[in-house]
Amino acid sequence: MTYSYTQINQYLRCPRSYRYRYLDGWREKDTRAGMAFGRCFETALGAYFRSEDATEVLFKQWETFRDAPLEYRKGDSWERLYHQGLHLLHKFAQDDRVRILRPEQNLQVKLLRTLPGDHEFVAYIDALGELDGRDCLIDWKTTTNRYAEEPAGLLRFDPQLICYSWMSGISDVALVVFVRKQMPEIQYLKISISEDHRREFGRLVEMTVAQVEAGQFASHSGIRFPRNGCLSCGHLGLCLDNSKLIEANLVRQPGAAELDWLDHFDG
Ligand code: SF4
Repeated sequence: MTYSYTQINQYLRCPRSYRYRYLDGWREKDTRAGMAFGRCFETALGAYFRSEDATEVLFKQWETFRDAPLEYRKGDSWERLYHQGLHLLHKFAQDDRVRILRPEQNLQVKLLRTLPGDHEFVAYIDALGELDGRDCLIDWKTTTNRYAEEPAGLLRFDPQLICYSWMSGISDVALVVFVRKQMPEIQYLKISISEDHRREFGRLVEMTVAQVEAGQFASHSGIRFPRNGCLSCGHLGLCLDNSKLIEANLVRQPGAAELDWLDHFDG
């Protein structure tokens, strides 16, 4: 069995949701415009580092979604996202703080790690390069909200960055956040992940895999109002036995457990 960060994260959020998705094959319908746009934007970033015309790549990629039945946030539209993307690409080039040598090798880097019990863990690192002249592992994010920067050091607890640091053995990690808002902004956030944090994450992965293998899928519905995790869970319809919600949010794929490597495309 091959595990990924998305799987571990989903199990920790709610084991029942994990079972619905990875054992029963219920996946959320991917209709969020922001997610689709994020993937197009990251493809354009790859083109930028290969010295291709990134704005043309962004247009071509995003053009394929022009008539797709995507769900846009209030006030968003195909054109608005496209213009925000152009603005962000120009700003990124102007800032000129990130370098990726040999982009064909150092973008979307696949890492594999063996886990006890003949399992393995796969991760796709967005980039290995330099930020402000310093070597680091880089993760891109496109979002509508700025990442919290206070209190200082908060990024040290970002589970995805810890996961990538654990997989690669690289301490210095960076999150480059492309914020789609009225005045688009780019955050360049750097942090060093300690060996202790990496070891702790490795133990968490092993414990989680052992629970999955033991078939433990009790629900973790989360915290009560106003932060009830069930409200943002795509599997709510299954838990409530509500066919309308199931139809609106989910699609069932047989053999989904074999497809988990695709999760690296998740936002
Ligand atoms: S709706 Fe709540 S209990 Fe059900 S799978 Fe989602 S998070 Fe778990």
